[in-house]
Amino acid sequence: MKKEKKKLGLTSKIFISLILGCICGIILHYFVPESYIRDTVIVNGIFYVIGNGFLRLMKMLVVPLVFCSLICGSMAMGDTKSLGKIGIKTLVFYLLTTALAISVALGIANLINPGIGLDTSSLQTQETSVAESTSVADTLLNIIPENPMASLADGTMLQIIFFALFVGVLLAKLGERAGIVSNFVSQCNDIMMEMTSAVMYVAPIGVFCLIAKTFSGIGFSAFLPLLKYMIAVLIALAVQCFGVYQILLKVMSGLNPLIFLKKFFPVMAFAFSTATSNATIPLSIETLDNKLGVSRKISSFTIPLGATINMDGTSIMQGVAVVFAAQAYGIDLSGGDYMTVILTATLASVGTAGVPGVGLVTLSMVFTSVGLPVEAIGLIMGIDRILDMTRTAVNITGDAVCTTIIAHQNNLLDRDRFYASVRSDDNIT
Ligand code: ASP
Repeated sequence: MKKEKKKLGLTSKIFISLILGCICGIILHYFVPESYIRDTVIVNGIFYVIGNGFLRLMKMLVVPLVFCSLICGSMAMGDTKSLGKIGIKTLVFYLLTTALAISVALGIANLINPGIGLDTSSLQTQETSVAESTSVADTLLNIIPENPMASLADGTMLQIIFFALFVGVLLAKLGERAGIVSNFVSQCNDIMMEMTSAVMYVAPIGVFCLIAKTFSGIGFSAFLPLLKYMIAVLIALAVQCFGVYQILLKVMSGLNPLIFLKKFFPVMAFAFSTATSNATIPLSIETLDNKLGVSRKISSFTIPLGATINMDGTSIMQGVAVVFAAQAYGIDLSGGDYMTVILTATLASVGTAGVPGVGLVTLSMVFTSVGLPVEAIGLIMGIDRILDMTRTAVNITGDAVCTTIIAHQNNLLDRDRFYASVRSDDNIT
């Protein structure tokens, strides 16, 4: 009898493509001479088209999926009271974990001293962009859409969340009177879920191409003078992701962190290869639901919210960057300055959009708050891509851990599904 071949699961496939992508990119960068075939056909042709095609497919899902699943979620939840409670809990959790993340970053940066002994002449400075500041009042007002259709068209996440929650609550209230609309939205939601699963079939190829393209363009020699800075950021990110979050998960929900990490890995890998939290929203909601048993009633709200305002990884980079720049420019930071950094970096995290590289722009807010020269950001720009990829993976893990804990506290977590063995099929369901 022919033995059935064991099929690789999505997690393993993505893991393999991640490693192969890195190796392929490094080989292309260092061992294949510049040529039309390498640069135009392979890197900027095949890798660019397939990688970005996949990314666009994922982005295509974001707005309709968030809109439909959020309406369905709030409709199922029904009352505004429990929605409000969950909303406040989530906000508090997000802000506290961000403040904690910056403290971890400041602690580790002060141990490693990334800016001491830095040879600035060996660095290439790049021009920096400065964040435009919006007042707190305007930031809050901006949550209410003036034109919900424009918010949907532009993908303005907080406005979409606001409008969808409103619609969902009203649909619940209207019941049968709006039955056709409720059914229509929940059927649209089913379509979007199916579409997410379908797009994930090509994820291993997409991840491979995105990573290979990125690594083929990175010159590792630029890393050397900034190695201490990079190591400090990476250690702080690892402490937050594998230490702080997993302890919180264990203590606050009793769930096994290793199972969480294993099942959530494809989402982290996707965030790493794309460096965008926004595009990761559909996959994160899908994985939390299908593999980790977290109800969409919660995740459809907390995940898009987190991808927009909760950037723990970004604030870690900002914390280390502050210590780095202060040391490089010989500026002493007082205890009060550190408190200011914790506060402004938490706000900067709220203001950072979940797209590549924005963390560096909002960093200017943090630098200005403690009198550091904004030009210092130019020093770390050249090597930011790898850190951006890594911190995005941490950003979305923070959202997912918080979501899982809050789902557990509200009886919206299916523990059997969380502990069910990972099925080795190609689908994420
Ligand atoms: N790329 C990050 C994200 O999308 C934001 C940043 O730190 O630049 O989460």
